Amino acid sequence: MSDIKALDRTYIANTYARFPVHLVSGKGSLAWDVEGKEYIDLGSGIAVNGFGISDEVWLKAVTEQLSRLPHASNLYFTEPGAKLAEMLCQRTGMKKVFFGNSGAEANECAIKASRKYAAEKHGADCYTIVTLENSFHGRTLTTLSATGQAHYHELYQPLTPGFTHIPAGDLDALKALAKQTKIAAVMIECVQGEGGVVPLDAHFVHGLDTFCKASDVLLVVDEVQTGNGRSGQLYAYMNYGIQPDIVSTAKGLGGGLPIGACLLGEKVKDVFAPGDHGSTFGGNPASCAGGVSILSRIDEALLQGVRERSQYIFDQLTGAKGVESVSGMGLMIGVKPVKPAREVVGKCIENGVLCLTAKDRVRLLPALNIPMEQLEKAIAVLKAALAE
Ligand SMILES: *Cc1c(COP(=O)(O)O)cnc(C)c1O
Repeated sequence: MSDIKALDRTYIANTYARFPVHLVSGKGSLAWDVEGKEYIDLGSGIAVNGFGISDEVWLKAVTEQLSRLPHASNLYFTEPGAKLAEMLCQRTGMKKVFFGNSGAEANECAIKASRKYAAEKHGADCYTIVTLENSFHGRTLTTLSATGQAHYHELYQPLTPGFTHIPAGDLDALKALAKQTKIAAVMIECVQGEGGVVPLDAHFVHGLDTFCKASDVLLVVDEVQTGNGRSGQLYAYMNYGIQPDIVSTAKGLGGGLPIGACLLGEKVKDVFAPGDHGSTFGGNPASCAGGVSILSRIDEALLQGVRERSQYIFDQLTGAKGVESVSGMGLMIGVKPVKPAREVVGKCIENGVLCLTAKDRVRLLPALNIPMEQLEKAIAVLKAALAE
């Protein structure tokens, strides 16, 4: 065991079941461990390093900003956050952006915006937010309460009240609930990521959209994992042709630095007044400068590349030996193996490929621009591990 593994186990809180790899550096879709072993990265630090590790354009944007003004606080105007917010709004049709530092904070803002809008418009008893079973919305107590998975709830009672979970696909459950309870918002992931890489059915999403518009219920889309090019469109909701009222995003937006963004649409754009919400690090200039360098390169050519790589992975793995099924969208792919997923991931690590799990699936979240040659090599390693 290397010293760092021992140090980590002694002093870092015991919340992560880490894989036995001590990474020290990386470039693009390659990473190296402390012994100099090379890995092809199909995980991107959980959908964060969208253009690979330490991407040159991102690095330049971030380091230039770091040398000028790494942090200023939200007491003053700074350029990168304003530019990133403008780009986000222009690309989505949303109207205003609140920046935090993580996916959970982006969702926390979405929840606060929903509650304030609904209370002001429909009364103090209109606060219920409906989310889906098997969803994942974050680890703060409130975003955990939004998360529709009982095993996350058990340890932390009492949870934040005001959340109800319905099965994905069950529009009737929502309509029945609406007869008994005032509903402020419905919050969904278009592809449930931590829940096993499960895309929502298009009929259901359209049904939700129609229901929400007709009843003035806010439609909130959690694009923390699916966003920023990962689905093959800039945001996954764009694959469904809907226009949400609120979009939260994080992970890939920063390209490797912490950031979260809550995009507020027409209905909720003016819901907050000064003092209603805030974050010391939110809109950090270095993170936002990185975000600008990422978002400005997620263009149609890049997205086409995402869809082609996606098709390649689906073609290679669908029906392959040891594979029960393949699910997902764009470069967010879940492979249900015959063997336990964690065993397959362990074998891949042995053979120089980093991938993840989600529930009973092997989860692939490669960089959006992973070179085809590296992708082909990594998928061959994965196929061998699945077939064994
Ligand atoms: C990762 C994730 C979150 C939480 O993001 P953090 O940055 O870890 O707080 C929320 N929602 C979804 C869909 C996620 O995948």
